[in-house]
Amino acid sequence: MQHLIQQFIDNQWIESRGQRRLSVMDPYRQTRIAELTAGDSADVDAAVQAARAALPVWQALGGVRRGAYLAAFADALEARRERLVRCSSTNNGKALAEAAIDLDDAIACYRYYAGQAKALEQRQGRRLEHGMAGIEARVFEDPAGVVGLITPWNFPLVTSAWKIAPALAAGCTVVFKPSEVTPLPEVVLAEIALEVGLPAGVLNLLNGDGDGIGAPLSAHPGVDKLSFTGSNAVGEKVMQAAANGVRGVSLELGGKSPILVLDDAEVESAADWVMAGIYFNSGQICSATSRLLVHESLAEPLYQALAERIDALTLGDPLVEGTDMGPMTSARQREAVERYLEIARAEGLVAVRDGRHRDLPDQGEFVAPTLYRDVPTSSRLWREEIFGPVLCAHSVTSEAEAIELANDSPFGLAATVISGDNERARRVGRALRAGSIWFNSEQLVMPEASWGGFGISGIGRELGPWGLAGYLEVKHLIGPEG
Ligand code: NAD
Repeated sequence: MQHLIQQFIDNQWIESRGQRRLSVMDPYRQTRIAELTAGDSADVDAAVQAARAALPVWQALGGVRRGAYLAAFADALEARRERLVRCSSTNNGKALAEAAIDLDDAIACYRYYAGQAKALEQRQGRRLEHGMAGIEARVFEDPAGVVGLITPWNFPLVTSAWKIAPALAAGCTVVFKPSEVTPLPEVVLAEIALEVGLPAGVLNLLNGDGDGIGAPLSAHPGVDKLSFTGSNAVGEKVMQAAANGVRGVSLELGGKSPILVLDDAEVESAADWVMAGIYFNSGQICSATSRLLVHESLAEPLYQALAERIDALTLGDPLVEGTDMGPMTSARQREAVERYLEIARAEGLVAVRDGRHRDLPDQGEFVAPTLYRDVPTSSRLWREEIFGPVLCAHSVTSEAEAIELANDSPFGLAATVISGDNERARRVGRALRAGSIWFNSEQLVMPEASWGGFGISGIGRELGPWGLAGYLEVKHLIGPEG
């Protein structure tokens, strides 16, 4: 497969105005599987213009009919299940089973916002309860306008669903830029837009990199609101761009999330949860629980149980059933993680498991699943997001110390508490500073529950009614009764 992926604007595939080309890679086979336009600001102009023209039509359609389109999107994704799971696995490097979970997540998100779109229409113009006699106040929720959506490469189809579905439900029109690293699964959204008869200009998909599309889209005055998922470095640039013209922005950024194993935890099941929180998707998860805080009484048996589980992980071809961990999604990400492993060597960190404990597959951008113990809380590996299969552990002497160290981070995306007592786990969870807290579970995500971070992990919330609210402007109509 060697085709050139272009721009989807106003329901047509058109040639990019840009001349630069990018390679789309299979990170396991290390081969080029497609060519991608890097994009150009003229593409952004054309897409924003199309989205602007489509806005009144899409808004006027109403929530019930917009919801029907979203339900059709969910059905169309479902109908392409096998192809999409393989495509995502090939382009991203994630194991087939993980790609299947992603697709389920995306489908559930489109279905959920199909329902939310209908509910939105039903509540338009509702009367506000208030204490002013003779005065009627009604509440309306209008679309924020044309929205620019930018996503990363770690969960293709998922991070885009979390933005596209609520934006369309709200009545916004969309200019969407997927990651240039994993554009292949996202291209299907254009195919589906045509198949379900989405009005032209409602969903525009621009391919390209940060320079070609991301920066000009963020800076475009015709975009009313920006929603970005990705790194903190780029998120800050998007926010600065949004300041021009006082445009709305929501950010889903990085994390350095803790997992607390309390002294009453059962070691074997704690080890299972710790594994699930860090090695899934080869550790390329914004909500990875990459800082393990374990009570000192359980530290040795837990490290032993983790070492056994790490040794049992099968690394290899993500398209082969039974592979637990595929490669990093790109050579660039492998190199970024390897730089942290060099820092760990320079800092003298003690590895329970790292690349010296196993042979890596002959091909692919692999990093060995790694566990460091007794990591000082001043270490860069403890403090910075690594975005790879690297777990840092630190033992604590009390619950209070675990909570204090868990909260000692500028990030606040997620956290996990493992305890033999659900009530205690809930109590500790309430003391943690993060948007998603799991107890005696890991990485549970549902379209009804919010997603987003405290601190530098972001601004705003996705999913649930909060995700929809991010694409709405609230309006009150107030005057005399009758
Ligand atoms: P990235 O910031 O490098 O890229 C994200 C997107 O921004 C890509 O589409 C990229 O092309 C685009 N971009 C690059 N430069 C730009 C610019 N100047 N202006 C506008 N857009 C630009 O991030 P990544 O490497 O693709 O993804 C990894 C990061 O994403 C990690 O930090 C991870 O924690 C974060 N992430 C967060 C969440 C969350 O929900 N909080 C979810 C997934 C990933």
